[in-house]
This record gives sequence, C-alpha cells and structure tokens, in this order.
Amino acid sequence: MSQTSLKGSCLRGAVKYKVTGEPTRFFHCHCSRCRKATGTGHASNLFIQSGALSWIKGEEQIRSFKVPEAKRFTNIF
Ligand SMILES: [Zn+2]
Repeated sequence: MSQTSLKGSCLRGAVKYKVTGEPTRFFHCHCSRCRKATGTGHASNLFIQSGALSWIKGEEQIRSFKVPEAKRFTNIF
C-alpha cells in the first residue's frame, strides 16, 4: 500500500497541518452533536492513526472542547 500524505490549513493560513498514512475510517455523521458542532446537517469525520497528524504552523492557536458526558466526542477548532 502506498503512503498517503494530506496537508490542510485554516482559511487564513494561520494553522497548517499534515497527515501521513492511510485513514482508518471516514464517514458523514448527522447526529445532534455533529450538527451542532458544525452548524450544518452533518459532519465529515476522518479517523487516522495516533501520531499521524503533525502541526506545520499555528499549533498554539488550536483549542479543543470535549463534551463531558461523551465517551469520544471532542471538537477542535
Ligand atoms: Zn456525530
């Protein structure tokens, strides 16, 4: 299997990241938490291996919120 690399950034380019390796899972979710977190009808969720994400720029500007009663739901923005 070939090595996959994905790069992305926020709209103004202050935060940049890179993901290497094959994603383990991808799906659109339309649960109430995903709708509320994105402000849309669904969220596009990409699951990757631990350690596959590296910050190129702006890591200090990242904030996260874990829903206290949720086992795995965290919104990072
Ligand atoms: Zn969801």
